[in-house]
Amino acid sequence: MKVIVTGGAGFIGSHLVDALILKGAEVHILDNLVAGQLVSVNPKAELHEVDICSEEAKSIILHVKPDAVFHLAAQADVGMSVQNPKYDADVNIKGTINILEASRDARVKKFIFASTSAVYGNLKKEFLSENETTIPASYYGLSKLTAESYIRLFYELYRLPYTILRYANVYGPRQLPKGEGGVIAVFLNRLKTDGTLSVHGDGEQTRDFIYVTDIVAANIAALDRGAQQTIQISTSKKTSINDILKRLAVIHGQCIQTVFTAPREGDIKHSCLNNEKAQNVLNWHPTVDILNGLNETYDFHQRNS
Ligand code: NAD
Repeated sequence: MKVIVTGGAGFIGSHLVDALILKGAEVHILDNLVAGQLVSVNPKAELHEVDICSEEAKSIILHVKPDAVFHLAAQADVGMSVQNPKYDADVNIKGTINILEASRDARVKKFIFASTSAVYGNLKKEFLSENETTIPASYYGLSKLTAESYIRLFYELYRLPYTILRYANVYGPRQLPKGEGGVIAVFLNRLKTDGTLSVHGDGEQTRDFIYVTDIVAANIAALDRGAQQTIQISTSKKTSINDILKRLAVIHGQCIQTVFTAPREGDIKHSCLNNEKAQNVLNWHPTVDILNGLNETYDFHQRNS
């Protein structure tokens, strides 16, 4: 099997590349390294250092003729999208269209897209399913939602098969302390220098934290399942920031200094995605609980100081 992973030098993409190589796939990465890191790139993969918006990226897809394209390359920073909506749209919308056109022309058998819970915006519901109203509250959420619509229309017009995966808050080794959902990476980075951790609000806000290898497994399951489906990939469990802090203190073996600051305007209190559809359609379920995931991530951060 031949595959292309866009964003394969990034946090999630690099783990996906590792798993695909282990499965014996020939893996090509398209990444301009704007946020990705060379150290994360599996030496058995072929790295093409290109922008997904370029003609060169298109030519590579046409030349490689992959069986599947995993499209993870993105401007993945919510704050950056609000500061620079044009750049966000260029990468996340126009870049996706470029990769879609090439995938259509190369007769790719499956296009698998990394979408996000940010498409729902600040819905006041605590447990979201895929058919919930989407009202993005950031340009990032909007650009990802728009990319989803292009993907669906490429199927309607050209029969390019797809699966859209909407991830909850992903964490794990190689995540940089920025971008989407990186609170655990931010905390672990501060702990390395024994710095004080800063929490917005009272810490009782909850998120659905999912370990990166579970996201990888869902992507691989989508190779053969979930055609023309939009599916949430999550633990369906709420974990509070205070709970993360307590667990980290146990792993760290000492007390963690924490300051609580004013809540960030616009931050949602609780966010949790229902994963029933993923279990039924992809025959997938999360396997790494928060304690094991935090332990692995903590060890990675300590080793890589
Ligand atoms: P990341 O920033 O680590 O990875 C993105 C990769 O895309 C980087 O390697 C970067 O260099 C590359 N890239 C960016 N712009 C590019 C361009 N114009 N051309 C080529 N390459 C480019 O982010 P991540 O956390 O690994 O996220 C991967 C995907 O998953 C993204 O699409 C993101 O929106 C989505 N996602 C992430 C999370 C999360 O919690 N991390 C949650 C939901 C969805």
